[in-house]
Amino acid sequence: MTYLTVPILVKSISQAKADIAQALSAHAEMLELRLDYLPNPTVEDVDEVVSAARKSSLLIIATCRPQNEGGRFKGPEEQRQLLLNHALKAGADYVDIELASLAYKPPDLTNKQSIISHHDFDKLPSNINDILKDIKKTKPAVAKIAYQPQRITECFPALDIIKENKNVISLAMGDLGIMTRLLAKKLGAFLTFASLSPGSESAPSQITIKDMKQLYRWDALDSKTKLYGVIGYPIAHSLSPTLHNAAFSEIGYNGLYLPFLVEPTWEEFKNFMDGILERKWLHLRGLSITIPHKVHALEYVLARHGGIGKLAQRIGSVNTLIFEENGRLSGFNTDYTGAMDAIMHSLDIKRTELSSLSTAVLGAGGVARALVAGLTDEGAEVTIYNRTAEKAQLLAQEFGCKWRALSDLKKLKHLDARVVINCTSIGMHPKVDETPLTASLLRDDMVVFDTVYNPLQTKLLLQAQATGAKTIDGMSMFINQAAAQFELFTGKPAPRSTLRRAVLG
Ligand code: NAP
Repeated sequence: MTYLTVPILVKSISQAKADIAQALSAHAEMLELRLDYLPNPTVEDVDEVVSAARKSSLLIIATCRPQNEGGRFKGPEEQRQLLLNHALKAGADYVDIELASLAYKPPDLTNKQSIISHHDFDKLPSNINDILKDIKKTKPAVAKIAYQPQRITECFPALDIIKENKNVISLAMGDLGIMTRLLAKKLGAFLTFASLSPGSESAPSQITIKDMKQLYRWDALDSKTKLYGVIGYPIAHSLSPTLHNAAFSEIGYNGLYLPFLVEPTWEEFKNFMDGILERKWLHLRGLSITIPHKVHALEYVLARHGGIGKLAQRIGSVNTLIFEENGRLSGFNTDYTGAMDAIMHSLDIKRTELSSLSTAVLGAGGVARALVAGLTDEGAEVTIYNRTAEKAQLLAQEFGCKWRALSDLKKLKHLDARVVINCTSIGMHPKVDETPLTASLLRDDMVVFDTVYNPLQTKLLLQAQATGAKTIDGMSMFINQAAAQFELFTGKPAPRSTLRRAVLG
């Protein structure tokens, strides 16, 4: 069992009691009493807090971390040892003692009660395996190592330690280290920490117990859980973990979907991919790829002699990677599918019928490229309008369509298109009063599709609705591309209403 452990930052006795009750109702499995948060703690304080925690019937760790290991305790070492001894007498199950402080007289603990720990809040220690050996020489009940990685590949040593050792706590802190907190359960670590609520973290980027359970499916994880995730930089804003984990839960699929913050260079992308694939025991089965790694993903598949979907090749970028059990790697692009499905659904037509539609694509960036590739593949007649006319020309030449400068739209009296797709960022938050098209060019026989999804109802869509045109918002595309990814990931139909609910509430 990997205990989901909530640190109780004991700032006052009454607040600690309230937090213990809250942790119990949030279904914590263990409590860590952080006695060092109490200003000038006394043995009486320790008695009272430990007794309150005992009533919860959860397992208890008592910790009184000194400042030099990232804690708050400022008093003399003898006082700290006294408090910890007292915590044991009062009924704590474990006491966390830093390896460095064993040089002093350790508390009167038996080996069954000791968690011997080492923390590095700056870096991955270069001698991490030696530190672990030194900890293990003390024959503790549990060995603990926590450090701050500087790049995501530095999380792998923490996972290797869990994989190769019993009774360990091994984690990488900060946004980069999120995977170590979740995979702790799959790999069988002694515990992982989860904060009670935002603001009550005892270490950087600790996830709340609510998110551990609801967003990351803690209770459903086990050693067979298949791993998925999204690679990007930045990644904290991504809705994909919310969406895919909700869909896994809905269909009862044993998967976990995590955010991976991979620095924006090819080297970092390659190193991360090599590292995660080398560890076959992580059971990585699929990845979503977002900015700035979509081209890197394509190159990586080619370098490993994997397969690339026909349109991903034409688009020149991959947003979905699939890893089969036999080691085969394939790359796809579902960005265009999401958009085209949204158009077909809105017009109630089949994909082949797209060929009869004249389409105006506004923009010539990554999203426009995916749409132009998808639409021209079905034989649709496309005209590209872009602010930088040369880019419109290049894209048009590549895919055999027409092009014009975006500014030409202002000169037109009539726009010869049944479908208009905005692939520029015009109208996106915060410039919500902007629109790429004058309202006079909109008609009621048009489908107007805005790929912008923040806000959901852009000025362009509101004006189109006012003329009676059918409209498609950017969220439909986002959900459709995720649904197509989910089907590639799991081989099962995506629960679309769950996906929509997960992002729209
Ligand atoms: P990109 O590659 O950076 O391309 C941006 C495009 O917008 C270019 O054509 C650029 O024209 C144009 N543009 C930017 N600012 C402009 C302005 N002030 N006036 C006129 N044109 C302007 O970005 P992308 O990845 O294609 O993303 C484009 C938009 O798609 C994003 O803003 C986002 O809202 C949306 N999106 C939606 C989804 C979804 O699932 N719904 C997914 C990804 C992105 P130049 O070539 O002249 O610079």
